[in-house]
Amino acid sequence: MSFTEEQKIKRIHAIKGIILSRWFLILGLALVGVVQRIAGVGVSSLTVMRLMVLVILPMLYNISFSFYIHRSPQKLRDRTLHLLSFSQVLVDQLMVTALIYYTGGIESINFFIYFFPLLSATILFSEIEIVMLSLVTMTMYIGLIVFEFQGFIAHYARYHHDPHLYQNIEATVLNTMTIALSFMVLSILAIFVNRIIRDRELQITIERDKVRSILNSLEDGIIMMDTQQHILSMNPPAMYMLQLYDDALKSELHKKNFAKKFHSLIDAILDQPQAKRLGHDIAVGGGDIVTYIQVDSIPIYNLSGSILSWVKVLRDVTREKELDQMKSDFISVAAHQLRTPLSSLKWFFQIMSDGDIGPVNAKQKELLDQAFAKNNQVIEIINNLLDISEMEEGRTEYQFIEDHVVDLVEDVVKSAAVDAERKKIHIELNTPAELLPPIEMDKQKLRMAIQNLVDNAVKYSPNDSTISIRIHQPDGQQLIAITDQGIGIPKKEQAKIFTKFYRATNAKQQESSGSGLGLYIVRHIIQKHRGRIWFESEPRRGTTFYISLPVSKKYHR
Ligand code: ADP
Repeated sequence: MSFTEEQKIKRIHAIKGIILSRWFLILGLALVGVVQRIAGVGVSSLTVMRLMVLVILPMLYNISFSFYIHRSPQKLRDRTLHLLSFSQVLVDQLMVTALIYYTGGIESINFFIYFFPLLSATILFSEIEIVMLSLVTMTMYIGLIVFEFQGFIAHYARYHHDPHLYQNIEATVLNTMTIALSFMVLSILAIFVNRIIRDRELQITIERDKVRSILNSLEDGIIMMDTQQHILSMNPPAMYMLQLYDDALKSELHKKNFAKKFHSLIDAILDQPQAKRLGHDIAVGGGDIVTYIQVDSIPIYNLSGSILSWVKVLRDVTREKELDQMKSDFISVAAHQLRTPLSSLKWFFQIMSDGDIGPVNAKQKELLDQAFAKNNQVIEIINNLLDISEMEEGRTEYQFIEDHVVDLVEDVVKSAAVDAERKKIHIELNTPAELLPPIEMDKQKLRMAIQNLVDNAVKYSPNDSTISIRIHQPDGQQLIAITDQGIGIPKKEQAKIFTKFYRATNAKQQESSGSGLGLYIVRHIIQKHRGRIWFESEPRRGTTFYISLPVSKKYHR
């Protein structure tokens, strides 16, 4: 039978295990022998010389097994491996028989050490081979006893005072039968154990093949890696993305084996962050042909909670990027083209409404004012769209200065006062008694973000309600909480609320104006401030939006 690469590795692994256990067995037997000698109760037939032979010989063959098995698997031929496997069992059987012979033959109790070669056979061989090897054991043992009985070989007495047991026919027959029977039972047991091991192996192989075929059929690249950055497996799409066509280079990803354009991708693959991280897009290539690969890092934890290995998911996002770019370009061009005529319209409505080009009656003025407001809304949406395309292309410039959040929020509250008063909404501002340290901010952008949240709170609150804004600094972060008693956000829609253009169903029913762009921009601004934004909301009861912003270390209390 010839071995597959995988069977070979498994077999080598098993033999290494047997060699290691054999060292323990030899050491144990040597110790027992020495202790017995020292205590003066040793088996009379086991002279120092014989003891040494029985210890040194197994040591020698164990060393030579070690030597062969530690050669590289490629060099180890199938025949050598078969030979090595069988000799693992056969030499041990011979050695144990010799041990029994020198420690009293039929009187010896060392026959139990036959369990060792039997166990090795269970690990290494098929059922039929196990049966054959236990028959060999039985033959060796019975042969030894019968040879001694017949006087073909000398008998070494175990005890000084009972030299005749080996010539006792009754003892010889009884002992050999009992021991032969126990070998039979043991080998049946070994066959069962062997079957269980093989079944488990088969199950594992089936599971592994299933996982492998799933991984291979995915479009995303999947790389499994241990914590030492050794690659455990890599599916074909991952190899394709790395243009890796040589299997031998798969187990370790060394930059030196790759063209320069792959270096940042390899860095991202080998990176092992503290926890799960969704990657950013990495450009591979140059000139006209650039592909963008997103690398997500997912840790696999063991039961005790420490990281066991990593799964890296590589996604080609080039097409998405191109579409995004086309969308942004379109929005940017369309928006610029629309903004100028709409801005002119705004002033026409204003001039007409003010009566500058002739008198207007009350009804006409009302319609002109409505047209002015609607026109303003459209201009606002266009401005938002332009802001977003600037943001997404990374063209937005941030100018950070140190300033006080409280002053900024007070300012925002003042400018929201007119709309709030119209709905008889009371805005209360709770700030701590002591002065909070300043934080790094782009004042204009942060103001815009907070203004948006307060405007939303007013917009989605009923008349005669209260909006409370609280600012405090729990730990290294300044926290702004804006709580309203408004319509809330339906639970099912909460996950989508920061998505571009998304408006919740209840918001659309109650308030027709609105673009669903505000929160998207707000989140972007907060993230640029290294902050976080989230909310808690109960439909029909109200919503609290939270913003936390980092305070620079020098002000930490
Ligand atoms: P807009 O308010 O223009 O619709 P936003 O991006 O500011 O867009 O908000 C997105 C959606 O989030 C809103 O349409 C609304 O459904 C929901 N929302 C935001 N703030 C609140 C709030 N304070 N109360 C209830 N719903 C809110």
